Amino acid sequence: MIRIGKADDNDFVLNDPHVSRYHARLIREEGTWLLEDLSSTNGTYVNNTQISKKRITSTDQIRLGDSCHISLPEILKSKNDYSEEFAILKEVYDHYVQSKVKIQSSNQFKIRLMQSLPFALPGVIGVVLGFLGKGSSILFGASLFIVICAPAVGIYLGARQSAKVPQQLQDLVNQFKIDYVCPKCGTFLGEIPWESLRNRKSCPVSSCRAKWADEEA
Ligand SMILES: [Zn+2]
Repeated sequence: MIRIGKADDNDFVLNDPHVSRYHARLIREEGTWLLEDLSSTNGTYVNNTQISKKRITSTDQIRLGDSCHISLPEILKSKNDYSEEFAILKEVYDHYVQSKVKIQSSNQFKIRLMQSLPFALPGVIGVVLGFLGKGSSILFGASLFIVICAPAVGIYLGARQSAKVPQQLQDLVNQFKIDYVCPKCGTFLGEIPWESLRNRKSCPVSSCRAKWADEEA
């Protein structure tokens, strides 16, 4: 619950002569926000209609009394509530983990293919050439050459492929460091699973004080 009014002990303090000491309150209800007027002197308005109790969204225009305009995001920011922004980070984390696994496994496959194919190939070619080339020392030499060289080429290709991974992974990690940050202070949250961060309920930077766990009234 977020209490709104002129008195200092409200969660959202407004210094306006037309705002009552305890003017209104916001209550979290089934994932939405309910704005409730607390019998204020000058009334609470949502989109220019006076209300006593109303579900509101971030696009609604809220007015307390004659001239005090506020919005839901403003009120939530004052409470350091970043649960909405934090929720989006789950996708960022999941995407990162999935991409990482994909890069690694597709690369493992390519490396194995490149390394094993040349080993299988010269066996076949060698046998064919050796058979056809019975008596031909040139063909025999060529097949011998392939048998010896192909594995070396395979090892080379495999090594080159495995060198590509760090670059791809590095790009992924770099992007992750830009995207997976505290919505308030922008600090990189580390390779910590989203669920673990959620259990922490707030930003690891103690001076930031951003909260993102669902707080029920
Ligand atoms: Zn922070």
